[in-house]
Amino acid sequence: MSRTYKICLIEGDGIGHEVIPAARLVLEATGLKFDFVEAEAGWETFERVGISVPEETVEKIASTDATLFGAASSPNKKVPGFFGAIRYLRKRLDLFANVRPAKYHPVPGAREGVDLIVVRENTEGLYVEQERSYLGGELAIADTVITRKASSRIGEYALKLAMTRPRKQLHVAHKANVLPLTQGLFLNTVLEQAKNYPEVKTQDIIIDNCAMQLVIRPERFDVLVTTNLFGDIISDLTAGLVGGLGIAASGNIGLDNAIFEPVHGSAPDIAGKGIANPAATILSAAMMLDHLGEHEAARRLERAVDRVLENGPRTPDLGGDANTETFAKAVAAAL
Ligand code: ATP
Ligand code: MG
Repeated sequence: MSRTYKICLIEGDGIGHEVIPAARLVLEATGLKFDFVEAEAGWETFERVGISVPEETVEKIASTDATLFGAASSPNKKVPGFFGAIRYLRKRLDLFANVRPAKYHPVPGAREGVDLIVVRENTEGLYVEQERSYLGGELAIADTVITRKASSRIGEYALKLAMTRPRKQLHVAHKANVLPLTQGLFLNTVLEQAKNYPEVKTQDIIIDNCAMQLVIRPERFDVLVTTNLFGDIISDLTAGLVGGLGIAASGNIGLDNAIFEPVHGSAPDIAGKGIANPAATILSAAMMLDHLGEHEAARRLERAVDRVLENGPRTPDLGGDANTETFAKAVAAAL
């Protein structure tokens, strides 16, 4: 007898209202049992209730098996009391691993043979946001923080992930040659830990060379782990390798909670028109199924998305004229 998964759904802002219902429709067609709990977060929530992540939302995320998040936007100007919803949730729930797969799907511009996952440390590095300005603005300093603890748990996560994959290969991307104390601590911690995973072929690679190799021969990468800022940059590069925002999925994973979300934002320019491509959110839902241990359903879902991406109907961003719901229904039918 299969179990019922409790899933928290957060639409957020803009096209979040369109892509989350589309992903829900597809999840319901997988044959698995779900109990969906809706929660709110983001700019629209802030405007309505004065806080972008109400406490009730945190409780719902914490009490469900996993969360699927649409998109949350931030205003361009500083608004007193406002904070970015997803950044807040990463910190609040200690979602230390930002996981971004880059895998070939049949969309324009995608490089065949690419099947890699970037694992970005999500809690420290330059993102501790400790900046200071001196001498009337002539000098500015930003701290970067690396701890053995955070390096060790991200290393552990990446090594375990590599173990689940056919090639069992891990690249540790770093700049320890220039920053031996901070980057060196990260690198050595992960390499030390890799000794406990002799089946994983672990190697280190300097981040700049890594960037070049990713462009020249992306198919030789499997799992890639790196510090926060490098991961931010490299994961956009790898998203670009496989066709960009339309299909880029991600997960924010902690020990007790996980939030899956498309890489794209709220796309205010097309919001409300019903034409957003829900593929990235549906592929994020497939990652969520993997996280829940439903690997077979996750693969079926990915194959269904691929079949529709290949044969249509496609949304306008991929040159088609289908709307969000038509695409989702086609994926559900392909399932
Ligand atoms: P935000 O501030 O929420 O990040 P943004 O203005 O940066 O919003 P993005 O969502 O990052 O917008 O999108 C960048 C561009 O890509 C926009 O032109 C948007 O319409 C397009 N885009 C993003 N996601 C999708 C999608 N799912 N389907 C179709 N087009 C998309
Ligand atoms: Mg954006």
